[in-house]
Amino acid sequence: MSHVWTPDVKKYNLHLEWNDTSKEAYLYEKQPGNKVRCCLCPRRCVMAPGKTGFCKVRKNIGGKLFAQSYGKATHVTVERIETEAIHHYNPGGRILSLGNFGCNLDCDYCQNWMYSQFEYSSPEHIYDYSSKQVIDMAISDNVKMLSWTYNDPAVWFEFVIDTARESKKFGLKNLFKSAFFLTSEAVGELIKVIDVFAISIKAMDEEYYKKFTKGWLPPVLENTRQVHRSGMHYEISNLVVTGLTNNNDNYDKMINFILDDLSPETAIHFTRFHPDYKYMDNAKTPLEDVMAARARARAAGIKYPYVGNAFDCDGLNTYCPSCGELLIRRYGLNTYVKPAISDSGKCNKCGCQTPVIHIDQSGRQPEDID
Ligand code: SF4
Repeated sequence: MSHVWTPDVKKYNLHLEWNDTSKEAYLYEKQPGNKVRCCLCPRRCVMAPGKTGFCKVRKNIGGKLFAQSYGKATHVTVERIETEAIHHYNPGGRILSLGNFGCNLDCDYCQNWMYSQFEYSSPEHIYDYSSKQVIDMAISDNVKMLSWTYNDPAVWFEFVIDTARESKKFGLKNLFKSAFFLTSEAVGELIKVIDVFAISIKAMDEEYYKKFTKGWLPPVLENTRQVHRSGMHYEISNLVVTGLTNNNDNYDKMINFILDDLSPETAIHFTRFHPDYKYMDNAKTPLEDVMAARARARAAGIKYPYVGNAFDCDGLNTYCPSCGELLIRRYGLNTYVKPAISDSGKCNKCGCQTPVIHIDQSGRQPEDID
C-alpha cells in the first residue's frame, strides 16, 4: 500500500510578504513587462513582479530579482569534513557547516526537508549573519574551512559567493555540497571561489529525477563534467535508496559515468538512506547493498569507492589502490590517518600517489591519534 504523506508539522509561509531588497540576485535577466528570468538553476523561472520562483526564496520586486534569504542561516555547526562525503581533502579536518532554507529541488526522501522546503522552515530557527560574522566564527573556533551544506546551497548563491570570496583573505577554504542542479554560468562562478565540491548525484535515470526530485539529470551530469575539467577537487555521492536505487542498473550507470566521463581516481560514496519526509515506507538501506555497490565499482576499475552513513566497516577506509595498504582508517566520522600515507598523499609502502591532499596533522585532536 502506498504511503500518503500527512505532515504533522506546521507550515509557516511566514515570509511570503518579504520585500527585502538588500541583495539583488547575481544571475538573472530582465524581461518585458517588468518580469525577470532567474539564471541560477535550469528551471530558469520567469517571475512577474511580486512573484517568487520554485525555490520560494528568490523574488521579483519592482522588476529586479532579489535573493531574499541572503545571510539567513538555519544550521551552523562545527563538524568533520567526512560528514560531507569528502575523504580525500584534509582527512579529519574540522569544518564550519552552514545551512540555509529553500531548495530548487523537492526530493521525496529529503533528510533536511524542514529546512530545504521553504513552507516548513520555522522562523524560530533562522538567524541573520553577515559574511564577517561567519568568518569570525570560523577563525575563533580555529576552523579552516567553511562548508555550504544541508539544504541545497545553490539557492544561497550570493551569500556563498560573497562569504567565500571574503574568507579567502583570511586563509579559509570553502566546500560546496550540492545536488548540482545549476546552470553552467552558476557553476562557472562557483569554481572561482570554491575549493572543494561534494556533488550528490541522486540516480542515473531521467524518469527517477523527474518523479522523485522534481529536477532533471542532464545538467547535473554536465556540471559534474565541468568541475572535473576545471581540475578542482570534487567527490561524488549517490544516496542508495531502498526500493529505488539499490540495484545493479543504478550502480552500473553511475560507475560507467565515472569511468567514461570523469576518472577512475574520482571518489564515489554510496550512501545509506534512512526513511524521511514523504518516503517513510521503506527501511534504511542495508549495509550489504552499499557494500555490494562498492564492490561492483572496485571490480569495474574505480580506485576509491566508499560507503556512507555507516560506522564500522572496510567501506569507509582508504586503501592504496596499488598494494592494498590501509592508508586512512575511519570509524563513523572519526578519521585516523595512518603512518602509511605521506603528507603529500603517497603510499609509504609502494610509493603510489593517491589523490588525497592537504593532509594536515597539526589540527588533529587527541582522539584522532590511532
Ligand atoms: S534558483 Fe529558484 S528562482 Fe532561480 S531558477 Fe531555480 S528554482 Fe527558479
